[in-house]
Amino acid sequence: MPLRVRLTLWYGTAMALFLAIFAVVLYTVMARSLKDQVDQSLEETATVAVRSLEQRGFLTLLDEEELLTQFPELARIDKFFQIFSPTGKITIRSPNIQRHDVPLSRTALEDAFTGKTTFESAKYPGEPPLRLVSVPILYRGSLVYIVQVGTSLESVEASLHRLLIMLLVTIPVALAVSLAGGWFLAGRALKPVDTITLAAQRIAAGDLTQRLTVPSSSDEIGRLAATFNDMIARLDASFRQIRQFSSDASHELRTPLTVMKGETELVLRRPRATEDYKMVLESNLEEIDRMSRIVEELLFLSRADLGEVKMERAPVRLEALVEDIQRQAGLLGQEHHVEVVLGTVQPATVLGDELRLRELLLNLVDNAVKYSKPGGKVEITLLREADEARLAIIDQGIGIAPAAQKLIFDRFYRTDEARAHTKKGTGLGLAICAWITEAHQGRIEVKSAIGEGSTFTVVLPLAPSAA
Ligand code: ADP
Repeated sequence: MPLRVRLTLWYGTAMALFLAIFAVVLYTVMARSLKDQVDQSLEETATVAVRSLEQRGFLTLLDEEELLTQFPELARIDKFFQIFSPTGKITIRSPNIQRHDVPLSRTALEDAFTGKTTFESAKYPGEPPLRLVSVPILYRGSLVYIVQVGTSLESVEASLHRLLIMLLVTIPVALAVSLAGGWFLAGRALKPVDTITLAAQRIAAGDLTQRLTVPSSSDEIGRLAATFNDMIARLDASFRQIRQFSSDASHELRTPLTVMKGETELVLRRPRATEDYKMVLESNLEEIDRMSRIVEELLFLSRADLGEVKMERAPVRLEALVEDIQRQAGLLGQEHHVEVVLGTVQPATVLGDELRLRELLLNLVDNAVKYSKPGGKVEITLLREADEARLAIIDQGIGIAPAAQKLIFDRFYRTDEARAHTKKGTGLGLAICAWITEAHQGRIEVKSAIGEGSTFTVVLPLAPSAA
């Protein structure tokens, strides 16, 4: 069911409920107050009659004409009165009771003996109901007369009937008007949603560079459109990234393949000495190693993206790890005539996966050695600060331009300086480093100046017990 219909139905139901309750309350209150008014006026008239009898000392009953001339309010057409003897017999009654007797009820008689006034209703077939009040007149403790005043409830009934008709006519009209209003308002409120849906469909069908026009208001619709635009922008960026990534990946793999193909074709052109074949095979092996590394690193990254890389969380003593890495990298450094030394090393334990942390450090130290100039020095330090361990790898190598510092963690990004400096490198190492650091709730900071060297700092939270 469309939202517009649902909203209107909800609104209509609420409105109908409200109108029904309103009608019932109005009718009840009205009926109640009209009857109270009748009772009050009956009682007032009865009081007048009782007073007139009291003034006479109860002994001689006035005749009806005399009573009426003395108390004209008794002669009101809309009321009749009767005076009963204690046996319940009518002694006097006003001339406007014509059609039939209205005898005293048992309840009224019994109440009269205990001195109580009785209000009651009586109904005769084919007539509007009557409302009666019976007031006892006591003289020296014994019942002398019972004065009864009555009136027809015809006008009350007629008023209530009119009210009922009015409610029955106006409520459906009000309901219909409010349903129409609800339908219109729901339509108006939902129109921008329709517009957004249509625009979103157009965007989804093709062009991710398109955006919705965001209404200037900061209401729900404005926020929806802005959020939607945000989402499209992110989708757009990640699609671009994927396209860029595929093109980079194929490019990186094509270069070694081209080299291998060229060298192999060249050597096969005519018979050669064993030495020549050996040289080409060795060169090919180097390229194959490079490609294997790229493929392995890509595999790791894509598994990491899919959340398939398991991370242990065990205490890892970084100082021991750092010393180990320094020994390992020392050998690598010797090849490049680069010295790898330890600076300040403070004990620090973090929670994490030792193998991955080793890979992270090795990658960074490997880069530092790789991008150092011969005779340079790489220093590794480990400092504890508050609840963090700060691992720094400092080199005096080629450095990274400020603009490139943000990009080096992107997959396949390599600076021109790095490409000129060494053929080795895949451009994936730092992306893996960044992922491992993030998986350990840490961060990597870079400080670098072209030609002067770089400092990569890995900041990791200390293990809770060690912090
Ligand atoms: P690569 O395999 O090319 O080293 P990385 O992802 O490890 O790939 O690094 C990406 C790029 O960051 C490098 O190509 C290089 O341009 C730059 N870079 C990384 N470490 C250093 C460093 N210690 N000194 C200078 N440049 C560096």
